[in-house]
Amino acid sequence: MSAGSYYDVLGVARDAGEQEIKKAYRNLARKYHPDVCKEPGAEEKFKDINEAYSVLSDPQKRAQYDNIGHDAFKNASKGSYTGGGGYGGGFQADFSGFGDIFDTFFGGGGGPKGPRPGADLLYRLSISLKDAAFGTEREIEVMHSESCPECDGTGSKNKKIRVCPKCGGSGQIRQVNQSLFGQFVRMTTCPDCGGRGKIPEEICRRCGGSGHARVKRKVDVHIPPGADTGTRLRMEGYGEAGDYGAQVGDLYIELLVENHPRFTRSGDNLETEIQISPAQAAVGSSSEVKTIDDRTVELTIPAGIQHGTALRIPGEGVRRRGHPGNLLVRVRIVVPKNISDEEKELYQKLLAIEKKKGPEKKGFFKDFVDKVMGQED
Ligand SMILES: [Zn+2]
Ligand SMILES: [Zn+2]
Repeated sequence: MSAGSYYDVLGVARDAGEQEIKKAYRNLARKYHPDVCKEPGAEEKFKDINEAYSVLSDPQKRAQYDNIGHDAFKNASKGSYTGGGGYGGGFQADFSGFGDIFDTFFGGGGGPKGPRPGADLLYRLSISLKDAAFGTEREIEVMHSESCPECDGTGSKNKKIRVCPKCGGSGQIRQVNQSLFGQFVRMTTCPDCGGRGKIPEEICRRCGGSGHARVKRKVDVHIPPGADTGTRLRMEGYGEAGDYGAQVGDLYIELLVENHPRFTRSGDNLETEIQISPAQAAVGSSSEVKTIDDRTVELTIPAGIQHGTALRIPGEGVRRRGHPGNLLVRVRIVVPKNISDEEKELYQKLLAIEKKKGPEKKGFFKDFVDKVMGQED
């Protein structure tokens, strides 16, 4: 159904009461029932009406729908059925208090019947380029739900759960609607147990029967060398608690590598820049280069090196195990702006020598200046 909310489908106001919703549903269902209505699209419309009613007639599903909005609700229902709100409205808790860093995805599996597994969590973590290159250990704090310590996750004060008397443990109830055109029977999620088939003997006061407690937990994260922006690390069992006896969700840590003032990364290579003088470039020299972990490495600059050339220092890139990348040092030849009289004299001598060499062969200095000028635009 593309057109509007479930409220629009049934033609009722957002604050419509149970009776009003039921009445609207009955009228529409009667009108669009495929056995009666031969209008094109009637069957589709009938399906939409039923879908809208199945959500809005269930207080927990309706609350959830109101909370997260139409599109999010539809998407959530696609992956796995998320109806029902726990014995005390556990579902909403999944959406509260996470701020920007958490998204709750909907844990896979877990149909309408039986205990539902816990949802997975996503945590976004920024790391420096150095940490990405070398790997690191980080401690983060995660808000998630764990088993309620009071009731050991049963949701029950005396830690006993029993078969739901309303649905007999199936988690579903039959709803028989009489209409002018006969009976139709629908299976819906049991409102008492939310589809679990079991309920606490005595509701735990601490968790309201959900069996969950929200806690802040410290998690040690091992970030391997070579991690990059978008890398996702999976921490099994650090997600949300599921229903009693069901699997706990996972925590996914998605990495974002920050920009570095001196280094850029390309695959497993790191790249940086040094500045040298025209004299260094012409006759060769050596230069000290700081690695990303602040060690100093001696770099030999061969005579006649051209502006923009990258020199390679093996193994000083990303330390991916077994196959570390390289550090590429790009050479910038910088013409001095303020020179002494003595230097000026020497440059003039150079110029004179270059002129003598003849116009067909450009001198080093002219060649260099052309190159720099060319690169600047
Ligand atoms: Zn409890
Ligand atoms: Zn039940």
